[in-house]
Amino acid sequence: MRIDIISLFPEMFAGFLESSIPLRARKKGFLDLQLHNLRDYSTNRYKSVDDYPYGGGAGMVISIEPVDNCISALKAERDYDEVIFTSPDAPVLDQPTANTLSLCRNIIILCGHYKGVDERIREHLVTREISIGDYVLSGGELAAAVITDAVVRLIPGVLNDETSALSDSFQNGLLSPPVYTRPPEYKGWKVPEVLLGGNDRLKEQWRYEQALARTRERRPSLLDDKA
Ligand code: SAH
Repeated sequence: MRIDIISLFPEMFAGFLESSIPLRARKKGFLDLQLHNLRDYSTNRYKSVDDYPYGGGAGMVISIEPVDNCISALKAERDYDEVIFTSPDAPVLDQPTANTLSLCRNIIILCGHYKGVDERIREHLVTREISIGDYVLSGGELAAAVITDAVVRLIPGVLNDETSALSDSFQNGLLSPPVYTRPPEYKGWKVPEVLLGGNDRLKEQWRYEQALARTRERRPSLLDDKA
């Protein structure tokens, strides 16, 4: 999968790309992530990419021309399944969306900054908008990293044990059950007896019941969705 991220601060992705699953996905050839500095697509001599908002008000707005230049240059090279814009007023990222995006071959993620981007970018150049939650970030970079991480770990082969993504929260409409590792007892705090025994059917049943109870308690809306 190829992901092209358009940003004013591409250096923000450095640590993210050099660690953990995103690094492994890149090394194994499952992820080709290319960063593009929007400033490189500015055609004016000051390399500016933003301007004052029409009608007044605080904050600068990212202009349409450099964004169009960058997206057009990318589209001239290959077809894209989605051009995603990160925005707090968009539908919030969820696991079904991550699953859908993990099937894409090429996507572009545009990171906004300052007051946002010229609305015509959203109307004419963007095919999907995603928020990562009901709060406002300084820019779309962290949102793009969150989207990339959630999507890339779902590409078959990226995680060593493929079933481990399938048993994560939300994949079957339930939260994940609690997990434990050695030692079986620490400061008197015990691992549930059933997990230490040899009966796989009982363990599976225990995990399902825990997942259900946890979902009912913490995210009852997930159970409503199923009904
Ligand atoms: N004026 C805008 C916020 C701009 S924040 C508003 O009130 O809606 C600057 C940029 O950060 C946005 O254009 C967007 O790309 C990014 N951003 C901020 N919060 C975000 C969130 N919750 N999810 C995704 N992107 C976000």
